[in-house]
Amino acid sequence: MTVAEIDDAISGADNSTIFRNVKQLLEEGSVKQVLIDGKSTAYECTEDAHDHFICNTCNTVSKIHLNTKELKGMSVSDITIRGVCNACKE
Ligand SMILES: [Zn+2]
Repeated sequence: MTVAEIDDAISGADNSTIFRNVKQLLEEGSVKQVLIDGKSTAYECTEDAHDHFICNTCNTVSKIHLNTKELKGMSVSDITIRGVCNACKE
């Protein structure tokens, strides 16, 4: 969810309250930041670990699960893959 989506979901909450709560959840490790398209930041629950597929045509972000979590000895937290989704391929 982006901060704008959280704002839409919780009517009456002001942005400073949302940012303060998101910051606290980040510090606790309950949520993590995800850079969606290189400029937009979203926040996700860390308990629901998954990777992302972003469509180059419609920019839809899909949750995917990949098994590879090690790359040349580096520990990988999540993987983002870009391509063309099934709907746009048709
Ligand atoms: Zn698409």
